[in-house]
Amino acid sequence: MNAPAHKPEDFVVKTHDVEAVNRKEDRALYADKPSIYPKLAHGTFRRLKWILMAVTLGIYYLIPWLRWDRGTDLPNQAVLLDMSKQRFFLFNLEIWPQEFYFVTGLLILAALVLFLVTSLAGRVWCGYFCPQTVWTDLMVSVERFWQGDRNARIKLDKSPWTFDKIYKKTVTHLTWLLIGLLTGGAFVFYFVDAPTLLRELFTGTAAVEVYAAIAILTLTTYGLGGIAREQVCIYMCPWPRIQGAMVDHDTYFVSYRDYRGEPRGSHRKNQSWDERGDCVNCKACIAVCPMGIDIRDGSQLECIQCALCIDACNDIMTKVGRPRNLIAYDTIANQEAAAKHTTAQPKFLRARTLVYIGLIGLVGGIMLWALSQRSMLEADVLADRNPYFVRLSNGDIRNGFTLKILNKLHEPHRFTISVDGLKNATLKIGETTGDNPIIAVPTDIMSEVRAFVTVPKATAMSLSMHGYPFKFVVHDVDTSSTTRHPSTFRRPLK
Ligand code: SF4
Ligand code: SF4
Repeated sequence: MNAPAHKPEDFVVKTHDVEAVNRKEDRALYADKPSIYPKLAHGTFRRLKWILMAVTLGIYYLIPWLRWDRGTDLPNQAVLLDMSKQRFFLFNLEIWPQEFYFVTGLLILAALVLFLVTSLAGRVWCGYFCPQTVWTDLMVSVERFWQGDRNARIKLDKSPWTFDKIYKKTVTHLTWLLIGLLTGGAFVFYFVDAPTLLRELFTGTAAVEVYAAIAILTLTTYGLGGIAREQVCIYMCPWPRIQGAMVDHDTYFVSYRDYRGEPRGSHRKNQSWDERGDCVNCKACIAVCPMGIDIRDGSQLECIQCALCIDACNDIMTKVGRPRNLIAYDTIANQEAAAKHTTAQPKFLRARTLVYIGLIGLVGGIMLWALSQRSMLEADVLADRNPYFVRLSNGDIRNGFTLKILNKLHEPHRFTISVDGLKNATLKIGETTGDNPIIAVPTDIMSEVRAFVTVPKATAMSLSMHGYPFKFVVHDVDTSSTTRHPSTFRRPLK
């Protein structure tokens, strides 16, 4: 704890007229909640939240406008979930529907990183990055801009409906709706070329579904960020319940250091600090809390760990000349040790964090390997089922197959097909004649090829009656790359 270097100023600490509307003892499901009027906090964490709000909103609104040159006939939008082509473009990566496991892998990786961060520093996601937190913070800032800070807003809500009140309320709600509209508007740009869609939106030529999606997102953003706010975190979001499984005594939480703060009570200038705690019961920490809770009640599911109460309390501690960080990021282990006048060493590397780090390495490694093995040619082999085989007039056995070849490259490619691992087999491709016919596959198209594999009777009858495994070899003539695709040859019992 750092004691301020300067002499305490001649202070008067104002006690806030505020109660924790969401106090531990008063909580009930479906109870009517009094409104929460978060006061503007000043300090390190508030500044950090402003910066992260600008960065996260900036990323969300601007990413669809980022261009990326992929050559002719391909979209030049850096991030695009192209529904018409059924393709996900992510900078240089182009993910096809059958490769959606890459997206699943990315989501698993993101979840593991979230688990790791939560086990180290609690609900960092909730406090700084969750869209609900970011948009609610933005809506509260708008409300503060039009209606004033906490006291002014409370006064306005209690006042009769004058022109001034109607004006302030109307412009607040209109600004919230505008933010909702911009949010919904930005979302649809992730699915269609942004400049084209913007033109269509303004000329009224966009699809009805696009207008409907924007309308729904406008209303949900307005409703969740402007109206419901903390109710979403408390009653709708499962994460506060789940994250309890990731934290332990060595996780850093926003904590009130009661061993230092208690017994609390108001404090007058020149009054001794002996026999009392540092908490002057000013309730500044409650006044800034967007969740309407009192951090001094201990760890609570409702606390999103936004750390604004740290800023508020540090302000007060500076004013009264006591060491800062009465509320701070701390571990339960350290608080228990501090209560006994010792300290607990931070333990960042512990069993659960090591497990998460190991899993992140494993999933990341698998994804990198899968990416390096990624083929730009996709082929599926379907064996005929009815009949499994045909006995030719000379007694030879023939099996029919359908090969589906997908050329993921952006120019037509030529392929040859052969059979590997099946002695004396001959291959005929559709109606073609001659050995190794060349099959042209246009780009972006799944081409179907009929293939007939014939094995002389004597050889066929020496193969396993339950099916003999072999491979189709698809060779790209233009790139000289080769892929192998397993299948099975079947013969009659006798
Ligand atoms: S108690 Fe503090 S950290 Fe928790 S939500 Fe309230 S202001 Fe944020
Ligand atoms: S913890 Fe800090 S901000 Fe909260 S009431 Fe005590 S002194 Fe005031």
